[in-house]
Amino acid sequence: MTATRTEVGECRQCRSFCDKMIEPRGCIELGCRFVYSYVDRLTGTQYVGCMQEVYGAEVELEAVQQPGGFGGVKMTGTPLPHCPFSVEQAYEGSGESYGCVNRRFFDCTEQGFEGLRAFDLRDL
Ligand code: SF4
Ligand code: SF4
Repeated sequence: MTATRTEVGECRQCRSFCDKMIEPRGCIELGCRFVYSYVDRLTGTQYVGCMQEVYGAEVELEAVQQPGGFGGVKMTGTPLPHCPFSVEQAYEGSGESYGCVNRRFFDCTEQGFEGLRAFDLRDL
């Protein structure tokens, strides 16, 4: 049986099992106004996170700024159109079971309060 979970940030419609990953460094580089940061007063460590909860983790700023970046954090909330993400496939294979049947999964969203309304021929 094929798993077909459709949580935000994951697709299970074929055996590749894809997850959308947010790179917090990208959020900082593009100057997203929803980046927040705070300093842990006990340890002095500075963390960054996303006010929109597109990803839920808070990650160390120092790690994010390392050459090559921190790596991706799994997208767990609804993204905005500008959110920088990549898609990681858990399994690679050949044959019908690994053929992508959800190519829109790789596209940026146009939904949400900052989304552009999709062009719809029915409006003409
Ligand atoms: S809204 Fe998107 S770009 Fe902005 S901090 Fe959150 S994940 Fe990053
Ligand atoms: S390859 Fe396509 S259909 Fe398969 S899990 Fe990834 S996005 Fe979904």
